[in-house]
Amino acid sequence: MAPRPNRPAPGALSTLVVAVDGPSGSGKSSTARGVARRLGLRYLDTGAMYRAVTWWMLRHDVDVGDAVAVAAHAGGPVLRVGADPEQPSVSVDDVDVSEPIRTREVSNAVSAVSAVPEVRRRLVALQREIIGSGGIVVEGRDIGTVVAPDAQMKVFLIASAEERAQRRTRDLVADQGATLNVTQAELARRDRLDSTRAASPLTKAGDAVEIDSTLIGLDEVIELVCKLAIERAGAS
Ligand code: C5P
Repeated sequence: MAPRPNRPAPGALSTLVVAVDGPSGSGKSSTARGVARRLGLRYLDTGAMYRAVTWWMLRHDVDVGDAVAVAAHAGGPVLRVGADPEQPSVSVDDVDVSEPIRTREVSNAVSAVSAVPEVRRRLVALQREIIGSGGIVVEGRDIGTVVAPDAQMKVFLIASAEERAQRRTRDLVADQGATLNVTQAELARRDRLDSTRAASPLTKAGDAVEIDSTLIGLDEVIELVCKLAIERAGAS
């Protein structure tokens, strides 16, 4: 493994915000957690927040295809998010949903819920509260563009469709019955919905560094992001 980058003074990192955006399966979570661990920063998975709200809607029999119904219930779920990269957690109404939010049922419903502006308004406010004055790596779809447009370091991660589907199939628990073809089709559908919605679609921020994680290994991606983040933290 490559040597750890030299760290700048802790003060410089304490206000650093690293935004990691990109489509599903591009390696955002592994990269964002790895960078947070290595630099001693907090870690926020905003996708888990949209998944948690979706889980709550499904459990409360809200028709997720009905944007008016979803908007009317947007204030219902009470979310708690843990920002420790060693043990990220999310709970809704005091129920730990870290595992159930990873099911195919939730994955296939989340894009409809996350497209509803009332849901986004609420979650973006909560995300900004958690980010506070910084010292955090945040992953999602709209972090560099909407949630933290002033982040010193923005990464836009991509990977080939085949590589992304393979990673997601490996991530899914065995009993969910998703073949590679099904996973690839579901990912493509989710990406299309996330990229074409009216409210904060997935787009690369103009000042983001694009990295293709098909071409370089995860350790190298983490190393590169840490190096760039440290340079920028030192410069700001
Ligand atoms: O990152 P993950 O794949 O877990 O995200 C699940 C879903 O949450 C995405 O497909 C997208 O619909 C939504 N999302 C979003 N904005 C974010 C993070 C996730 O709309 N910042």
